[in-house]
Order: sequence, then structure tokens, then C-alpha cells
Amino acid sequence: MQGSLFDAEENKPHVATEAVSAADDLAALSETSRECRKCRLADTRRNFVFGEGNPSAKLFVIGEAPGAEEDATGRPFVGRSGQLLDKILLAVNFERRDVFIGNIIKCRPPENRNPLEDEIECCMPWLLGQLRIIKPKIILLLGKVAANTILDNRLSMGAMRGKMIRWKEFDCFVTYHPAALLRNPGWKRGCWEDVQLMRRHYDNIVPAGISHDKSTDR
Ligand code: SF4
Repeated sequence: MQGSLFDAEENKPHVATEAVSAADDLAALSETSRECRKCRLADTRRNFVFGEGNPSAKLFVIGEAPGAEEDATGRPFVGRSGQLLDKILLAVNFERRDVFIGNIIKCRPPENRNPLEDEIECCMPWLLGQLRIIKPKIILLLGKVAANTILDNRLSMGAMRGKMIRWKEFDCFVTYHPAALLRNPGWKRGCWEDVQLMRRHYDNIVPAGISHDKSTDR
């Protein structure tokens, strides 16, 4: 009995140290990457948008690229799309502080056009760095561009939704981008089913309470 108590105590600082280390590493990555000028989008951006949330999140939410409001504020998923994303997450009991939210590319493409292949190629190392530090278990991919890019396919949304897809060491789920839901409210039911499926998987593989580690905004 005494041994198990000691084990439990020894585990606490270990978990806390990991969270602090992830926060420090993420801060360092943020500092380095915000100076990036590897592609043409550096010339037109107002703000670099690193992403924000829990540095030890077990769920990483990935969209396509910053829009006008993200570019203006330097924060991911703000404005109407962001508010809808917050509602979608809350519907399955996640707050922003539980998860990490970012995009495939960190600077806004002019007129919100899709990111070009060479821009994605230049920017992916920053996202891969975030994934290496945060070590999520699950990735929620928002929209076709994010899903096709990460999963390296050209499949339709219909072919990717409704199931778990393994990519590297991550369990990925695909649903609609909130901006698409604002244009097509009829898709909200499908999104609800997608995030419920993702939440059930999260509850199966992530020990309860682990998502409420130290949270930080970048
Ligand atoms: S989009 Fe990415 S690769 Fe291009 S300048 Fe911004 S951070 Fe660098």
C-alpha cells in the first residue's frame, strides 16, 4: 500500500514538469516561427498566427489558414467562425483551454484563397514542430483542404468523415470547417455526429482529467 502512495506522489511532479517543458518549447517555437519569411505570404500578412491553447493538449484542432479577422488579431479562429468552433467544441465538453487550435499555414492568403502547394510545403515544418512538442493523441481536421493536406489524399469530405483515420502516431477525425457550416447550416447535423464520434474516441483513449493541464495563449 505504501509503495503505491509513493508512486502516485512521484508521478505528480513528472506530469507538471512535462507540461512546463511543453509550454517552454512551444514558446520558443512561436518566437522563431513568427519571424518566418519562407513564402510570399510574409509580404501580405498583418499578423502571423501561431495558434493557441493547451501546450499539453490531447486534442489538436487544425484548420486551413488564417482569415481576415485572424490576420488582424494574430489569433486562430476568431470572429463568427471562431464562435461557431467554440460552440462545436463545447457541445462535446471541450473548452478552448482544453485543446490546441491552429492552422496548416500561419499567414493569411490574400482574399482568403486556398493556400498554394509551395506555401503549404514551406509552412508544414512549423505545424510538425507543434505536433512534436504538444504530442496530441487526436487531431480534428476542419475542412477538405486541411484534411487532404494532412492525410495526403484527394478524397471528398464524404469519404473522410465518419471514421477514425490514422496518420503518423495520431488518430484523426474530419469534419466541416466552421466557415462552411455558416454557409451551409444543413451540414451542422453531420458535424455534430463527427464531433460526437471524436469525443467518444477521446474518452476511450485519454485518461479523465488529463486535458486540464496548464493552459496558455500564444
Ligand atoms: S505562411 Fe508559413 S511559410 Fe509562409 S511566411 Fe507564413 S509562417 Fe512562413
